[in-house]
Amino acid sequence: MRKEFLPFSRPSISEKDIAAVGDVLRSGWITTGSRTAEFEQAFSEYCGCKGAVALSSATAGMHLLLTALGIGAGDEVITPSMTWVSTVNLIVRAGARPVFVDVNRDTLMTDADRIKGLITENTRLIIPVHFAGAAVDMAPIYHLADEQNIAVVEDAAHAAGTEYRGQKVGRKGTAIFSFHPIKNMTTGEGGMFCSDNDELLQNIRSLRFHGLGVDAHDRNQQGRTPQAEVLEPGFKYNLTDVAAALGLGQLARLDDFIAKRTLLAERYQQQLAEVDEILPMKTSPCTSRHGWHLFIVRLDTARASMDRDTFMEELKQRNIGTGLHFRAVHEQRYYRETIPQVMGTLPDTEWNSARICSLPLFPNMTMEDVDDVVVAIKEVLSS
Ligand SMILES: *Cc1c(COP(=O)(O)O)cnc(C)c1O
Repeated sequence: MRKEFLPFSRPSISEKDIAAVGDVLRSGWITTGSRTAEFEQAFSEYCGCKGAVALSSATAGMHLLLTALGIGAGDEVITPSMTWVSTVNLIVRAGARPVFVDVNRDTLMTDADRIKGLITENTRLIIPVHFAGAAVDMAPIYHLADEQNIAVVEDAAHAAGTEYRGQKVGRKGTAIFSFHPIKNMTTGEGGMFCSDNDELLQNIRSLRFHGLGVDAHDRNQQGRTPQAEVLEPGFKYNLTDVAAALGLGQLARLDDFIAKRTLLAERYQQQLAEVDEILPMKTSPCTSRHGWHLFIVRLDTARASMDRDTFMEELKQRNIGTGLHFRAVHEQRYYRETIPQVMGTLPDTEWNSARICSLPLFPNMTMEDVDDVVVAIKEVLSS
């Protein structure tokens, strides 16, 4: 058995990253300023998108987007239940109704056909989720939404560096990225709002900082007026320069991170092919570069005569950490109690929610670590 615990994720922070953060701390300007502007510029260039707004989290980005679109009572928002809870919480807090769309059993992602049947005259927004580093087939979804004049935002929390049909996720349309420490690149906490819609970008930029015409940095630039005033009531969701300095270093290494993640994921795929109780995920054919944010397996619980939670616990006993991405949102207590009628209506989401498990995957892992995980899995399944 492994002597040291192997976590399921760990950020990759270099001495250069630490020095860059130190420089900001010594500079006299530590909140939103020139490093944040540079980070936004670098991220837009990386994705090939028109503009990017750095935020304190992806959740903040989703909150600002719902606000900018004026989503509220009487509106319906279509999104999978196989996602992180933040999106659905915000829809509910906005007074709107989440309408859950099922996902493909093997990619965990939704598609235009599944969405189509759920559209009503109240549908205002569709939020597909790029899952685990693979890409949702967006073109048919944008086509469907355009026809009916419905907005679309891509939840790209898992998709920094992912390519969809040869282009980076974020290049077209509107997408929100997360830089939480488990994601493919991190700023501690943070997010990025990318869009090809200038008006929306400007609105998000203003809403992120109290709804003022300009942000903190602008107000302190020479020639700018300190008398900026509220254009509409906004929030306080800006990213600091301390975080942006880390983000710039991480972005510069994102492609290396993905290259390493890919090698590790391929090793898992090879080694787990012979384990009958482990069902691999499939990659959507429209994914031209998998970002390998997560390596998710599904436990064949009947064959293993074991439930997924026991499987995770047994791996932990053997010093292997795992994650759960995700337990379906409608299965969580608040949603079980407030919208119980949803249970049983999303067969492929529910099937996965009971069987998925994320294995350790991060750039500083070694091939031997992957082998340790596989040995532990085989042991657990044969015990
Ligand atoms: C992490 C995550 C989010 C939220 O990102 P934060 O930056 O933590 O707010 C949203 N959606 C998905 C699918 C995620 O995995």
